[in-house]
Amino acid sequence: MIEVVPRSGPPEAMNCPAVICDACRRQVVGKGNIIWAIKVVRSDEETRQQSPVYAAHKGACDRGLEAWLKKQYGPGWITLWEEMGTYLRQLLHNAEHSFEEDAEGEYHRLVIKQPGNDPHIEIPDGSATH
Ligand SMILES: [Zn+2]
Repeated sequence: MIEVVPRSGPPEAMNCPAVICDACRRQVVGKGNIIWAIKVVRSDEETRQQSPVYAAHKGACDRGLEAWLKKQYGPGWITLWEEMGTYLRQLLHNAEHSFEEDAEGEYHRLVIKQPGNDPHIEIPDGSATH
């Protein structure tokens, strides 16, 4: 998850935006995966639903996170993945360009469905693997 990590020490205390692994709670540096779940829709009239977006190290962390997401959302939902670098580049682009600039695309209303449990309690521990 994108978080703001407090830092103390010289030259001054700071708040540092960072990607933190939702499986092992350590910083993701370089390669990582962004994972979320969506409800499969059968028609354009159906409201699209999505989980919050999570981040994980590649390997045991992302596999554990995906297994946890599947358990949280159940049948009718699928998980989607994106490389962290690709996701962050697209996020920065969309922070600087509005969807209205895209005359050909259609952007759908989205409902974020929170998981039933706190992920930091329920996700299997992948911290011993890296
Ligand atoms: Zn991790």
